[in-house]
Amino acid sequence: MDATVSFSQTVKQQADIVKVIEGYIRLRKAGAQNYTGLCPFHKEKSPSFSVHAVRQFYHCFGCGVSGDVFSFVGKIENVGFPEAIRIVAQKCGIPLPKREFSSPEEAAGARLRAKLLELHETAATWFEEHLRGPEGAVAREYLAGRGMTPEGTKAFRIGYSPDSFNALRDRLSGVADNETLRASGLFASKEQGDGTQGPIYDRFRKRVMFPIANEGGRVIAFTARTLETGDKAGAKYINSPETPLYSKGHILFNLDKARASIRQHEFALLVEGQMDCISVFLRGIQNVIATSGTAFTEQQVALLRRHTSQVVVNFDPDAAGSNAAEKSIALLTEEGFTIKIVTLDDGLDPDRFIRERGVEAYMAALRGARRQSDYLIERARVAFPGASAEQKVKAMNYLLPHIRRMPEKLARDQFAADAAQKLNIDSSVLREELRQAALKRRDHVETRTSTLSEVERVLLRALAITDPEDEQTRRLAVEALAQQPTWFEHLSVYAALQALAGRQANDPMNAIEDEGQRALLAETLMAETKPPELGEVQSAIQEIQERAIENRQRELRALIAEAERRGDFAELTLLTQQKLDLDRALQQLHQYRESV
Ligand SMILES: [Zn+2]
Repeated sequence: MDATVSFSQTVKQQADIVKVIEGYIRLRKAGAQNYTGLCPFHKEKSPSFSVHAVRQFYHCFGCGVSGDVFSFVGKIENVGFPEAIRIVAQKCGIPLPKREFSSPEEAAGARLRAKLLELHETAATWFEEHLRGPEGAVAREYLAGRGMTPEGTKAFRIGYSPDSFNALRDRLSGVADNETLRASGLFASKEQGDGTQGPIYDRFRKRVMFPIANEGGRVIAFTARTLETGDKAGAKYINSPETPLYSKGHILFNLDKARASIRQHEFALLVEGQMDCISVFLRGIQNVIATSGTAFTEQQVALLRRHTSQVVVNFDPDAAGSNAAEKSIALLTEEGFTIKIVTLDDGLDPDRFIRERGVEAYMAALRGARRQSDYLIERARVAFPGASAEQKVKAMNYLLPHIRRMPEKLARDQFAADAAQKLNIDSSVLREELRQAALKRRDHVETRTSTLSEVERVLLRALAITDPEDEQTRRLAVEALAQQPTWFEHLSVYAALQALAGRQANDPMNAIEDEGQRALLAETLMAETKPPELGEVQSAIQEIQERAIENRQRELRALIAEAERRGDFAELTLLTQQKLDLDRALQQLHQYRESV
């Protein structure tokens, strides 16, 4: 057995799949041994994703994914098996053995990412030091002017990059080689006459530095705000470029700090700017995250869905803000989020509003958040005022795409009805348009009722027994299957039964390769509260036997009728004898059943 296999087994024994999965999505206890939540791997509004606490596997009844703790982490983090083992080990505080990688590229990639994390950590600390130092006075003044306290500055690790092209480079040149420094995004360089890149220099100069952390709280990038004014200032904000650590569209600012509160309050407050986010968070509203001024990406939506499906959006009211806001809202709608929208008085952004009017006023504004449909209808009314038919058609055309985007028919119907009422649409043509828009989309409702019989379930459970104490029960099923395969052939779970009977691995879920068959096992095991009793398995086998006999009897009856028609008396005698034997066997089985 190689080291990776034995280490993975150690980790698997110590890891609790429920705890690990809860780190990504919300789970609710659904039975004695299982939990459910919204599947992170497909769109859904009602939970069909289940986790079995004792057997340590997950299964989604909506999209059919299933597996163990490593497969979950591998899927959700989009990493390979070795990386998944390491992540789980780290989550459970199990020290890693000497690192093993499946390929040299993977090893090099992991080394680079580790080094880049170290560089970012060092840089963040260094920026923090410079904010406290004499050069940082101008930045401290700026922050104080924006209502930032020293505690807040510390909590968000806000720093200052000094006015120098080489100060950070000099600080980090002993930590990593030149290529790694280039890859970090902390530096820039100019293309030279011969097409090669010139020497690196500090990318961030004379700026207030806001670290961007990944979901685990590690610094992976920076946003930097200029303190210069006039022509020399450059862009007001600049960000780290895309690096092996950081991809802008994959990160939600502050999710590391906000996620516990998001789950607790069952919604996320979404703002645009990082300053808005920090300001709101530091005043006690901790379930706040920021998109950093751009429209949401699908990856960000997926990231958020692990924690909640309800969002209160408080974007800037200015035109650019509204545009990004609309795109984000459109995407969140398509992905089935419930959305409410806050508009603050006098066009204030969240940061200014909360500083000028106080946290109570802001909370009141949050409570007054409007449903998305109401917000959109209002916007349509403002954009196309008046009672003329022409204006109403324009308002409708504005709303139709929004209505079509909603994944749930009920919500679309409601939206369409509200729009018709609030826009005073009495034209039957327009009403029909709305009705059609509401009908358009197919629902994602996934209701699955089990097709398995009780007998099939008992057999699956018997063969999935892992406790050596119940081995006798398992053996009974294994032997019946080996001796009388024809009894079982017609069952829909026959392939699963065979795979389980012959399994080498201790984990039954790993024994079945066919996804459909594995789903049937998962479904059965999720509903199980304890392994079947010996007696249950006996009567299940007996019922299978009875069914087999009854099938054979039906066949014999047909054969007997055929022999009679042909006048083949020898054959008839033989078949009749067989049928009598079967009748007797069946009768005995029935008597036996009544006696127990
Ligand atoms: Zn699913």
